[in-house]
Amino acid sequence: MVMSKALSNPKFQWPVVGHKNIAAYLQNSIVKNKVSHAYLFFGPAGIGKTAMAESFVNSLVCRQADHRDGLIPCGLCDCCLQIKNRIHPDVYWLERPTDPKTGRVKKNISIDQVRELKSKLSLRPFLDSYKAAVVTEAQHLSQEAANALLKTLEEPTAKTVLIILTDNFSWIPKTIVSRCQVLKFLPVAQSEITASLVERGAEKLAAAKLAALAYGRPGIAINYFSDPESLQAYQEKIKEFLALTQADLIQRFRFIQSEFGYAETDEIFQTLNIWLKTLRDLALIKTQNQNLVTNISAGSDLEKIANGYSTAKLTNLLRQVALAKKYLAANVSPRLTLENFVLNF
Ligand SMILES: [Zn+2]
Repeated sequence: MVMSKALSNPKFQWPVVGHKNIAAYLQNSIVKNKVSHAYLFFGPAGIGKTAMAESFVNSLVCRQADHRDGLIPCGLCDCCLQIKNRIHPDVYWLERPTDPKTGRVKKNISIDQVRELKSKLSLRPFLDSYKAAVVTEAQHLSQEAANALLKTLEEPTAKTVLIILTDNFSWIPKTIVSRCQVLKFLPVAQSEITASLVERGAEKLAAAKLAALAYGRPGIAINYFSDPESLQAYQEKIKEFLALTQADLIQRFRFIQSEFGYAETDEIFQTLNIWLKTLRDLALIKTQNQNLVTNISAGSDLEKIANGYSTAKLTNLLRQVALAKKYLAANVSPRLTLENFVLNF
């Protein structure tokens, strides 16, 4: 792709749901030939950071990008196909590796991975265009890995773009943040998520229900739609939690042991978020705000359940889940956090 002169009138086709202002900002930087060396995309999982990063780097390397009348990215050239299959030789994805022994995703992105990335970025591009690296889940960079990444940011090479994605700003060293263009991803309107699901072939009513469950995160809604099993697993978690709140102390401890004995902090966070949303729905029903309930599919079931709780109990549970999240974020042991949680409701 020739990027020496600014593009005059390109048409972009980015399949990102919502975030129009961010897309416009990035597209404008391509048009004006003013792409930054580093970006930090910040927002919760499933909100659209990865989709945005993919569209952005795809537009930077697409062979048709200098054609004024074509769409960017074209989706047809060899570069676009390589991006789609994640095999483009000048675009690197830095992710947490999977442990070959256990099959589980490792806790951290290691310094060796960052070193490897650094050496790849320092090579001449294979295809005389941009080189790009996307660091997903940057909150999982080890301390040393973060320091090594900072070195890359301090010595930028021409036509390289680093995009750092994270859902947890506080874990990223300020020295890294200060060298990036920070773009914050806000929740996407429910109507936009519904429309995107309908485009993917969902029935309107089903789409609206899934969009409500997603809390402004299109990736979550799309995942529920394309993978009904993940939706089932989510609903199962809600049922388990409701049963847990009715169980005696021994049963509660057993549940914590069997469900979370080997769970990672991330998984526990996800579960606590589901619990929080369920409790929020119950509290909304209790206070006659049914129209704001997100778990529409649970419908009358939730109403029956809500009637079984006093407002005081719901308030206490909400407080305890929020507290558990706070402890986890402060690195208190997950087991201690959860045991403390089930002791107190
Ligand atoms: Zn292309």
